[in-house]
Amino acid sequence: MCYLKVAVPVPLRKSFDYLVQPNDDRDNYKLVGCRVSVPFGNRQLIGIVLAVSDDLPPEHQLKSVSAILDSKPIFNFQMMNLGKWIADYYLHPIGEVFGAMMPTALRKGVKSERSALKYLQRDFDDLSALETSLKQSKKQLQLCALLASHDLPLLEAKKQFSQSVIRGVLEKQLAVEVEKPYEALLLWQRRIDIAPALQANVEQNIAISAIDHASSFQSFLIEGVTGSGKTEVYLQVIEKIISRTKQVLILVPEIGLTPQTVKRFEQRFGPIVAAVHSGLNDSERLRIWQQASDGELGIIIGTRSSVFLPLPSLGMIIVDEEHDDSFKQQDKLKYHARDIAVYRARQLDIPLVMGSATPSLESLHNAFSKKYHHLQLTQRAANASMPVQILLDIKDQALEYGIAKGLLEKVAMQLRLGNQVLIFVHRRGYAPAILCHKCGYVESCQACDNPYTLHQVTRNIQCHRCGDIQPIPRTCKACSSTQFETFGYGTEQIEEGLKRLFPEYSSVRIDSDSTRGKGRLSDLLAQINNNDHQILIGTQILSKGHHFPNVTLAIILNVDGSLFSADFRAPEKLGQLITQLSGRAGRANKNGEVWLQTHHPSHPLLQDLVQNGFADYARSLLLERKHVGLPPYEHQILLRCEAADLSHIEEFLGFAHATIVQFTKLKLIGPLPCAIEKKQARFRMMLIAQSASRVYLQRAMQSALDVLHTHRLASRVRWSVDVAPSDFS
Ligand code: ADP
Ligand code: ZN
Ligand code: ZN
Repeated sequence: MCYLKVAVPVPLRKSFDYLVQPNDDRDNYKLVGCRVSVPFGNRQLIGIVLAVSDDLPPEHQLKSVSAILDSKPIFNFQMMNLGKWIADYYLHPIGEVFGAMMPTALRKGVKSERSALKYLQRDFDDLSALETSLKQSKKQLQLCALLASHDLPLLEAKKQFSQSVIRGVLEKQLAVEVEKPYEALLLWQRRIDIAPALQANVEQNIAISAIDHASSFQSFLIEGVTGSGKTEVYLQVIEKIISRTKQVLILVPEIGLTPQTVKRFEQRFGPIVAAVHSGLNDSERLRIWQQASDGELGIIIGTRSSVFLPLPSLGMIIVDEEHDDSFKQQDKLKYHARDIAVYRARQLDIPLVMGSATPSLESLHNAFSKKYHHLQLTQRAANASMPVQILLDIKDQALEYGIAKGLLEKVAMQLRLGNQVLIFVHRRGYAPAILCHKCGYVESCQACDNPYTLHQVTRNIQCHRCGDIQPIPRTCKACSSTQFETFGYGTEQIEEGLKRLFPEYSSVRIDSDSTRGKGRLSDLLAQINNNDHQILIGTQILSKGHHFPNVTLAIILNVDGSLFSADFRAPEKLGQLITQLSGRAGRANKNGEVWLQTHHPSHPLLQDLVQNGFADYARSLLLERKHVGLPPYEHQILLRCEAADLSHIEEFLGFAHATIVQFTKLKLIGPLPCAIEKKQARFRMMLIAQSASRVYLQRAMQSALDVLHTHRLASRVRWSVDVAPSDFS
């Protein structure tokens, strides 16, 4: 009799012990990394075996494992270590960590092995004998010719031949269908088809040869202005890795992953590329996971969670647009895919390449302190010039639909010239608030204390915090007046305004409302590149990764919000947004202008950014962070607490404060309200612990958490831990 230590997906930071019967057919010691189904309370849960032991623990009341779900481990030794490291680093329950590391289908107990495949097998002796009998059916003869040399997976046959050809061959009893266990016959190495590379320029060459020379773990940060040819650098270094038959994992931001991205890699390397994005369903995800672990994929391009894919011969990891927020998961396990990529690269002793036109201050700091090898691309590759950024003082200026009159004239001119114009708006919907003209009452979501956003397209009002949707009110709740006014501008209203002002041009709105649905965003992007639309209006999504070569004028409606934000990362994010948006404009041989509307044109941050560019701006921000002792110079762990009863939060975070304050070397901030103070009828507060030593912070918080779990409210309020938080909402 032996027992297993199992990581069970429950919010407790420990593993659980279960008995397992001796088994003649398999060695129980090889169960590490397999899934088991175990009784937990009155439920059955699926956990991962962490360890096997035959020293029975003192408590003999152990329950038995109900079932072993895998015939071979789904997590190998390295992935097991990764899971344990994540649990430690993010102070997160280990069972939930392993849950997050596997595709949903496996979490639900679906078989991990691939099912048997159907094959066509020949049922004739001599191919030449068929040549006369199949004279009239050339296609059937072709199929038989293939079958003469090997059995053909039915799926493959269906790609090459029509249903009637296959049916014909089966009916003439020239072939039979057989089932065979899956074997990785589709090795990607055989499908590599490399197209010639571009002639790299001097800066690209320096980067390429530096990365090529890394034969072991090393991190590279490519700081390259938009359009400087970072992707070309990736392509050229990837070529060498796959020629050594090693796999490459490329992490990209959530919405940067379009069919065009994948096509660019396939054009260079052939059909060895798989894309993993949020549009895939559970079984598609499982299939990619299986193909990845069976070594059928050479290049995987994926969003955040792809960092957990098992890749048996990984040779390089690339994190493109490494500054992007979508690499950080903001709920449950709050991991940052870049941090995990660093760990994996180190563990496998392979190079890691990060690239961005606007690197995160964390990565820049690592580059300056020589932890990362810093590579710079300062010029646009294809002779395109950088767009000019201009601050427009809108104090006391006439605005139409929030846009300065003078800028509207510029819009008209660019449109007349056949160019495209891009307008960036912070908010989606029609207007961020509606209020009563008579008494000023603002229609707000009660559960969140948050003004409703008016949506004209769907004709309703929506709370952007909790998603609540209500009909547009007819009368004011406070005074019964029927006169309403909207406050502020959202994308819908700007689109409406521009349609009215420029009726002869087509406009397109790109926000999370208009791009909902599979393939919708890439359809709209294709229309833009096809010049179907001349006016592009959008939110964040427009700023990310896509190329709009015909955009010669970009307008950012309002930059002031970020200048006075309580979030210390706001200036960094503003600089990234403005620079990235600018990078969309004037890519080809067209010069671009980017206009920033502001009430504070002489604000030192804006001046620095516009005069000196992001690289300088980021360096000043870093200096400032250093002076005031903020990340990346200090490290933070955030404790967030939510409850309907404010006094519960105060009691729990008060206790947390009293506990953590005993670690005298930690700095404590709070408890204070989160940026979103209330959501879905729950109040929200946070407490931040900070230290210059990450290790000290980690250890101290680890012991503090053990104490917090003993508090009477620990299981009654919602609370979570966020290591290296990036979002204080
Ligand atoms: P980034 O990834 O930095 O935004 P890309 O790799 O997409 O830049 O390159 C921008 C444009 O410049 C693309 O059209 C690309 O084909 C072109 N390009 C990149 N490198 C070169 C080069 N060495 N010679 C000519 N054109 C290049
Ligand atoms: Zn009123
Ligand atoms: Zn709400």
